[in-house]
Amino acid sequence: MSLEAENLAHILARIEAARKAAIRPAASTTLVAVSKTHGPERVQPLLDAGHRVFGENRVREAHAKWPALKDRFPGIVLHLIGPLQTNKLRDALALFDVIETLDRPRLAEALAQWRDRGARLPDLFLQVNTGEEPQKAGVAPLEAPSLIVRARALSLPLKGLMCIPPADADPVPHFALLAKLARDHALPLLSMGMSGDFERAIRFGATHVRVGSAIFGPRLQLSEKKDGLADNERR
Ligand SMILES: *Cc1c(COP(=O)(O)O)cnc(C)c1O
Repeated sequence: MSLEAENLAHILARIEAARKAAIRPAASTTLVAVSKTHGPERVQPLLDAGHRVFGENRVREAHAKWPALKDRFPGIVLHLIGPLQTNKLRDALALFDVIETLDRPRLAEALAQWRDRGARLPDLFLQVNTGEEPQKAGVAPLEAPSLIVRARALSLPLKGLMCIPPADADPVPHFALLAKLARDHALPLLSMGMSGDFERAIRFGATHVRVGSAIFGPRLQLSEKKDGLADNERR
């Protein structure tokens, strides 16, 4: 078995154990395998092992990697987990099945315009900047309710909330805050938890955990800098 497939099996087992410990129903948490910075040769072993749900944080990188894989492996579900500029919206809509990073009214309006012109919209998550970090994308917690209302007024397919807690803080209060916001607004999906904290996120109701380095190993610092990946992630 490849290293990637071995890691995948291990992470899936840990998700299942955390799910049981939290007394949540079977299959209530989906693993989003975060493949950013890794080439198709690293992704392929996971596809061969039957995994289909992946996350990428850059539209251009995803476009270089995924169309060929989507042709070869039916049923792939691709999540955009990085910031989305409106000038990349057309490309993003052509490729992604889920966009987790709706974070401002302007983007909500642009999505509605594309829909009105006939585009199929993917399921949407609102990204909430629970730590109110200036360098991080996401709507501030206090502004989230009005953006949820706006997205609903535009009839956008808003399904859930997503957060990336501050790197050096206890993530639990952030998970709790996101879960409460979702409950208050009747949003069923919660994307939270990464390699270092996904079990705790599952305890707080994560329906999607985004795990990269625990499956693929560390990403190269150099290429992160070069690719400008730093602002929506925590290392
Ligand atoms: C990179 C990234 C992840 C995965 O982080 P790991 O710690 O490697 O599991 C999750 N979510 C987002 C938004 C990311 O950019």
